[in-house]
Amino acid sequence: MLDKVLIANRGEIALRILRACKELGIKTVAVHSKVDADLKHVKLADQSICIGPNPSPKSYLNIPAIISAMEVTNAVAVHPGYGFLAENADFAEQVENSGFVFIGPTADCIRTMGDKVAAIKAMKASGVPTVPGSDGPLNDDPDTLKAMANRIGYPVIIKAAAGGGGRGMRVVEDEESLVTSITITKTEAEAAFGDGTVYMEKFLQNPRHVEVQVLSDGQGNAIHLGDRDCSLQRRHQKVLEEAPAPGIPEDVRQGVFESCTNACIEIGYRGAGTFEFLYEDGHYYFIEMNTRVQVEHPVSEMITGVDIVKEQLLIAGGEPLSIKQEDIIFRGHSFECRINAEDPVTFLPQPGTITSYHAPGGNGVRVDSHIYNGYRVPPNYDSLIGKIITYGHDRDSALSRMRNALDEMMIDGIKTNIELHQDLVEDVEFKKGGVNIHYLEKKLGL
Ligand code: ADP
Repeated sequence: MLDKVLIANRGEIALRILRACKELGIKTVAVHSKVDADLKHVKLADQSICIGPNPSPKSYLNIPAIISAMEVTNAVAVHPGYGFLAENADFAEQVENSGFVFIGPTADCIRTMGDKVAAIKAMKASGVPTVPGSDGPLNDDPDTLKAMANRIGYPVIIKAAAGGGGRGMRVVEDEESLVTSITITKTEAEAAFGDGTVYMEKFLQNPRHVEVQVLSDGQGNAIHLGDRDCSLQRRHQKVLEEAPAPGIPEDVRQGVFESCTNACIEIGYRGAGTFEFLYEDGHYYFIEMNTRVQVEHPVSEMITGVDIVKEQLLIAGGEPLSIKQEDIIFRGHSFECRINAEDPVTFLPQPGTITSYHAPGGNGVRVDSHIYNGYRVPPNYDSLIGKIITYGHDRDSALSRMRNALDEMMIDGIKTNIELHQDLVEDVEFKKGGVNIHYLEKKLGL
């Protein structure tokens, strides 16, 4: 068991990690930027250290400062949460080279999954369904490229191997613009990611975003915690998620779950991870693997009873997975609404002081949030201020509870996107289940 864990993150996920550590009797160290001294988890941690000024490159992305903080506090391991350094292979490597435990997969594994071409290759080899495409980097020969696009079928999408956050992609409708589009994407990828490698995939027109949560101990054992539907997105940012993904034939789901756990064993995956897929017309197409805990992990916890962050800590402590696949009973349905400090119409961030806060409650309602009365939302970071998660024995009851919870949530002093969620949970198509990734933007008139 790990003795003391440093939490290299902020906000709701830092608090989430702190709670899991405390439940397991693990001591905690909070690191924070200047403006974050009043964060809830900083107050609750056994020790806290200011690691730098507010801009994240100087604090939450400052690798030497974080490793020094581990040294002075005698922490044995670091939990990176999501965002910041969570998928930074160099960070994982430096942590391990300094004699500490990185709570996540090996640096090599993060590196492979961060290179989309390498990730797709590894997945394909393990039987995970992928998008028809170039199966590798594109060369410069116009005739080969044109023949390839014809074989795949237009429209195609050109993607940067090193891309992320929805950047470094370009859709090509026809042969006329193919070669120019590839050249532009390469140049942009080189400038944005320092790596001009691009590949080609079939562009799926109306897919859903469906992902599979896994836990794997790196000792030959892997399980899945089912799927989540995260199709409600704006600018590639997830807004509202649910588990399980509604309306997918059971045999197709089970097949993909099995291929994901097989892939984990094959690549020696260690920790919690997510396989992201596009799902269209009964088929899954792998797009990427997230080698970390995700914002939307609670919906899977609600329907399985498994504490994903606790499992991450146990796995990092060297323990083999204590849960077997057959021990997991999927029960009921869960939704998560991401509450952001932002204008519900313009989506502009709304930092400021929360003058009054009242959290929702009741049966089947969970709130993961670091905010409190008088908390000041700083302008420096992501606008996520919390998540409302509801559970119900079926989809309708979980959704009714979400409707109540949103009505009960009172946040004064700053604007939030609660109104947007109130609108979404009443949306006729969404209520039916299974809307595609374009639905929200279309609804918003974007
Ligand atoms: P990133 O790492 O930048 O998030 P992804 O590969 O996960 O990149 O793709 C981000 C989003 O781009 C997807 O969620 C989807 O909306 C869109 N996308 C990516 N590949 C395809 C594809 N082959 N067809 C249709 N849409 C795609």
